[in-house]
Formats: sequence, structure tokens, C-alpha cells
Amino acid sequence: MSLALSHIIDGAPTGAAATIAGLNPSDTNEIVAMAPHAAVADMLAAIEAAHAAFPSWSRSGLIERHDILRRAAAEMMERRSELGALLSREEGKIVAEGEGEVLRAAQTLEFFAGDMLRLGGEAGPSVRPNVSVQVTREPLGVIGVITPWNFPFSIPAWKIGPALAWGNCVVFKPASNTPACAYEFVQILLRAGLPPGVLNLVLGRGGAVGDTLCRHEAIAGVSFTGSVETGARIAAACAQSSPQKRLQMEMGGKNPLIVLDDADLDRAVEGAVSGSFYSTGQRCTASSRLIVTPGIRKQFIAALTERMAALKVGHALERDTQIGPLASAEQLALVEGYVQAGRDEGAKVAAGGERVLRPTPGHYYAPTLFVDAAPEMTISREEIFGPVACVIEACDYEHALHLANTTSFGLSSAIYTRSLAHAEHFKRNAEAGMVMVNLPTSGADYHVPFGGRKASSFGPREQGATAREFYSIVKTAYTHAPLVG
Ligand code: NAP
Repeated sequence: MSLALSHIIDGAPTGAAATIAGLNPSDTNEIVAMAPHAAVADMLAAIEAAHAAFPSWSRSGLIERHDILRRAAAEMMERRSELGALLSREEGKIVAEGEGEVLRAAQTLEFFAGDMLRLGGEAGPSVRPNVSVQVTREPLGVIGVITPWNFPFSIPAWKIGPALAWGNCVVFKPASNTPACAYEFVQILLRAGLPPGVLNLVLGRGGAVGDTLCRHEAIAGVSFTGSVETGARIAAACAQSSPQKRLQMEMGGKNPLIVLDDADLDRAVEGAVSGSFYSTGQRCTASSRLIVTPGIRKQFIAALTERMAALKVGHALERDTQIGPLASAEQLALVEGYVQAGRDEGAKVAAGGERVLRPTPGHYYAPTLFVDAAPEMTISREEIFGPVACVIEACDYEHALHLANTTSFGLSSAIYTRSLAHAEHFKRNAEAGMVMVNLPTSGADYHVPFGGRKASSFGPREQGATAREFYSIVKTAYTHAPLVG
């Protein structure tokens, strides 16, 4: 049975007509949810509700905010199987990954519940006599949160968690592909005790209401995760608005995974399988360029293609499925276009390269490996966002590092080697926000900063204690108090 969703404004569903059908990517005969298509008036009402709630919420007690986040985390953990299955039905992620993501979202809320209790600020003498200085942090204001469909629980958790912890109000515009996960996420926080108006949900297409959110004078900041193209539009709108908005953007990646001659072959192959193909490759941190030196190239390709042949592609809810479908028909068409471009430009398909048929109609695509890919080919330069990786040959470590850094992106970078010297050199010289040694490019912790460089990111880092850089604003206070006596 499909869910009937609504915007949630000022603490209550609005009852807007649900006209957008969300199909299960594993079985497009199933409508998972019906969602409304927001009009500008809905966005304006959500901003108004958040603006009205801000004076009270920004002064609320630490324990009130802490307890709400903890209660929401507890409900997510308890309903992990049910919410994980919803995520699988809506986005196509296999159910083990769906459950893992819900758990991660709960852990993230718990982290921020604890982090906000850490005493912060600085106090000390001024350079002027009889004057003291305090540096403190205050809530930023009303924040627009815009998220993609590929992590529909954990990305909202790592944006909305710190926003609420630091006393901000939120207008949340999730991807139009995953409204049901967003709706559950917001309802859980409201049930946990969040006052009306503090967190508002506006469903529907970003193109229709995004500009209103990014340009409104009551919005103090926008935190966005999505594609580089959408990011550029959002940045322009935020810069042209008055007042200009604080902006945080996490965008695409074309992440390199280097395998040197001295690598542990089995570990490197497992890293490539997990980094390139799990979550159907639909991760900004996916390992999509496998840069391999000549002494290990043949064995690496042979072992990787053998491992790929054993991967089970199928319905996301079947427990033995390892690779679920792509999230939508549009995503499948994009991937097919890139595979065709790879073939046309002269790379060879060593595995996959075709759709997979399953008993239910879904967007299934075989994990695909290109070999003999040149660095300048489209498949080596552009983010594909599907289960497709290409092997690029490098002469030696220095050449591999050069190839790894020759990209407009800079999110995550990995190396497989037994050489401490190369590992240390790589950590210092990889042009990426995150560097992995003997680990795939994907898979990050929630208690440390997450983000990239170059076209991958803009603004302060997300997650960990660094999240406060975006979600709070610094105040410097001076007091003149002559010494008595
Ligand atoms: P997208 O098309 O850029 O959409 C992202 C969000 O922006 C969606 O909610 C979308 O709404 C909204 N949007 C679209 N046009 C807008 C506008 N003019 N103003 C305001 N909002 C607008 O990205 P996606 O396809 O959902 O996600 C895939 C991308 O996200 C990939 O490039 C991936 O690398 C990136 N990503 C990055 C990270 C990271 O941390 N670096 C993590 C995950 C994903 P609609 O859905 O209604 O279009």
C-alpha cells in the first residue's frame, strides 16, 4: 500500500494534494508513496513558520534539545528494520545497507546531542586595560537544508542534527525521489518533542521552489548536498540575495583508488568491489577510477572481474542481493549513456556493460568494469553515479599520484600499498578532503569532518565537531570593568 505524504509546516501535515508517484526501483509496479508538488506559497509558509519559531527555539535549554535528539535517535534505532526496508523500497539500496544507514542516522543524532553539551567559547583579557573579552557561539538563524536521494536518512541527520542542536530552525527540501524517508525523519523528530515550526518539510521539485528558499531574507544559511550543476545555481542565488547567505555545499566526486605493485591483492580487490559497486555506485565517494601500476595490473583485473561475476544483482529487499537497482529510470539512462561513451571513445568492457533482467521490472544494471581507459576519456573525468569503474594504467607511484590529482573533483582518494613511505607521501599530497590508506574511497566516520576540495565542496566541513563552524555564529563581547580597590 502506498503512503500518502504531505508537507509538514508549523508542526502539522498540510493536506496538500499528493500528485507525484514514487515508484519502487526494484519493482516499478509498486507505488511506494504519493507526494505533493510544492508551490512557492508552500515554501513561503514553511519559511514563515521557521522564522516565527526561531526566537523561542534559539533560547531553549540545552537539555531540551539534547533530549529531543536522543529520543529521535532511540526511535530510529528501534525501527531500524522497518525504516531500512522503506529506504530500500524507495531508493533501491539493499536492505542491509538501508538498515545500516538508519543506524548511522541515529548515531549521528546521538553524536550531536552529546557534542552540544561540550562547553565552548573563550574568555580572556583584552589588549586594553580593565577590559575583558568573551568569544561565544550563537545559533545562525533559519537554515535551508537541501538534500539528494542517495542517503535519504543519514544526510538529513548530519545536517538537521547539528542545526537543531545549535538552536537553529530548519526548512528541509529533500530530493523529490525520496519523500517518504524525509517524511518519516521529520515525524520522528516531531514525536520526540520538537516544537511546531522548528523543522518544516517542503516536498516536491527543487527547481520550482529552490530559488525562493535560497533568496528569502529570513534564511540565514543554506546547506546543500547534490550535484555540481545544482550547487552552482544555489550558490548564485545565495550570493545575489540580501542578506547574502552562509553557504555549505557537498557535491560530486571522481574518486581515485590507486593499487601499487606491492599492494595486498585480495584487500585491494575487496576495496575496489566495495568502493565501486556497493550502493550500486551511487555514492559521492565511490571509487570510479582504479589507477593501477603495471606489475599488478593483470592479476588485479583478473581477480576483480572474477569477484564481480559472483555479485548478485537483484531486488533490494532480498537478503542475498548484493547490488540493488539504480534509483530511477533517469539514473539508469545516465549510466547507459556513460557506458556507451566509454565504448565509443575506445575503452574496453571487461565485465558488465548491460542491463540485467530480474523477475520484477526494475532499473537493474550489471557492475561494469572498463579497462584500457585513458585519463582524458569521458568515463575517466565525469562522475557517473552508477556501478561503473574504469582501470587506468600508471607507470609508477609518481605517475599514479599525478593521475589521481588530475581531476576537477577532490572528495576522497585511496591507495593500496605496503610501503609506509608511499602511504605517508600520498596522505600529504593527495588533493582530496579525505584520504584512505588500504581502505576504499567510501566509508567515513560520523565523529570527524567530512568533505572535499576543488569542485567537490564549498564552505565549512560537515559532521564531527567541525559542524558547528557552519551552524553557529561567533560573537565577541567586550566588558569594561575597572578593578575595585
Ligand atoms: P541534484 O539533482 O543536484 O539534487 C539535489 C537536491 O537539490 C535535490 O533535493 C533537488 O531537488 C534539489 N534541487 C534541484 N534543483 C534545485 C534548485 N534550482 N534550487 C534548489 N534545490 C534544487 O543531486 P541528486 O541527483 O539528488 O544527487 C546526486 C548528486 O549528489 C551527485 O552529484 C553526488 O555526488 C552528490 N552527493 C554528494 C555528497 C557529498 O557529501 N559530497 C553526498 C551525496 C551525494 P529535486 O530532487 O526535486 O530535483
